[in-house]
Amino acid sequence: MARYEAVIGLEVHAQLATRSKMFCACASNLKDAPPNTTVCPVCTGHPGTLPTVNAGAVEMAIKVGLALGCKIHARSIFARKNYFYPDLPKGYQISQYESPLCTGGSVKVKTKRTDSEFPLIRIHLEEDAGKLMHDYGHPEKSHVDFNRCGVPLIEIVSGPDMRSPGEAGDYLRTLRNVLVYLGVCEGNLQEGNFRCDANISIRPVGQREFGTRAEMKNLNSFKAVERAVAYEIERQIKVVDGGGKVVQETRLWNDAAGRTESMRSKEEAHDYRYFPDPDLMPLTVDEKWIGRVRATLPELAHAKAMRFTRDYGITEADALIMTEDKRLADYFEETAACGAPPKKAANWIISELLRELKESEEGIAACPIGPEKLAELIGLIEDGTISGKTAKTIFAAMYRGEGVDIRGLIESKNLQQNTDSKIIEKHIDDAIAANPKQLEQYRSGKKAVLGFFVGQIMKATEGTANPELVNELLKRKLK
Ligand SMILES: [Zn+2]
Repeated sequence: MARYEAVIGLEVHAQLATRSKMFCACASNLKDAPPNTTVCPVCTGHPGTLPTVNAGAVEMAIKVGLALGCKIHARSIFARKNYFYPDLPKGYQISQYESPLCTGGSVKVKTKRTDSEFPLIRIHLEEDAGKLMHDYGHPEKSHVDFNRCGVPLIEIVSGPDMRSPGEAGDYLRTLRNVLVYLGVCEGNLQEGNFRCDANISIRPVGQREFGTRAEMKNLNSFKAVERAVAYEIERQIKVVDGGGKVVQETRLWNDAAGRTESMRSKEEAHDYRYFPDPDLMPLTVDEKWIGRVRATLPELAHAKAMRFTRDYGITEADALIMTEDKRLADYFEETAACGAPPKKAANWIISELLRELKESEEGIAACPIGPEKLAELIGLIEDGTISGKTAKTIFAAMYRGEGVDIRGLIESKNLQQNTDSKIIEKHIDDAIAANPKQLEQYRSGKKAVLGFFVGQIMKATEGTANPELVNELLKRKLK
């Protein structure tokens, strides 16, 4: 039995998908922007400049708060978090501290693995800092890109309620999906618009007090989060079992080496000083505004899954898998709208499409096969033009970029379903002649051998023979 229990809390920084920054009119979508081209005196904090709050960012934060069941506070306060770092030209970051916009709420996680609810402590608004670039043309010099200064973020802080790496991963995936569903964040860990830090400690099972925690940074994939948490729990157990003490520190996850490494201990840690930003009025949010935002809340994953089971007759397990990603759920609905039987569409998406997406490690946005093409493919199986096996071959070919002209691919690969009984009979005769032992078994009553013969013929025809016809003709010949 386990002697220790892990205590895990997560802090997520999500970049809000606004057009402009948190406190100025600079563009906040930085993709492809050369360094230091989307900056102004406000976001770089020149003396005499005044920040103005981006109402769109506030609205997105309210949306997240409402979706997660938080209390939205009528009055919240922006504070200056003072510290010195080269990527922070102002010398402080504007964040919410004592009075955040949202408190409470929870993330409800329902997957195959778990059905739990993780309470939140707070969600607050803040601005991002710039970025140091250590590999920009000179081996001994660092450069700094201020583009990211002032980009709007929400920080979502969970309670210390996760107990395993799997729970941490499921929580994060669910939270990411909520944000993507709401359209407030792109949710891409690799690109850094959805970032996670993990606080981890261990304690003997049954003990109430928390152990000393270490903070984990640099987690840029869901897998990295789960691996880092698992590694860190084991590391702390070894320290304690060896008679040592866990020290409070910040650690970095080294994904290539598969371990966490000390970054700075508490003594060197930033000792932040906060005070209310004198340039910004308290943020006031009235009931009317909250009501307007509430009216724009879209259908979220769980509600969508329940509707799928109701309206399309697919299983709850399938519906849960497909609604994990909003774009995948949309893809399913469009495939069904193009005329594919929903259950078959769901099967294809879960087995074939998800496998390809996993292998290519790309999102559904990169899928070369549109919903109308999948519906067409399923239609061709339904009307007997091609077998299910052939359809898989065509699907893989389309995915590999051989084009999406399904009928053209069938012809060029010679994959039309063979319903010519003369040709099939010839293959049956060959199979029987080549396998006298199996024939004898069949005739002596071992009817299961029929499957062996079907397999032989499907192999000989490269899967193009019509399986029903093969069965029928075989039974007749084997008598
Ligand atoms: Zn600016």
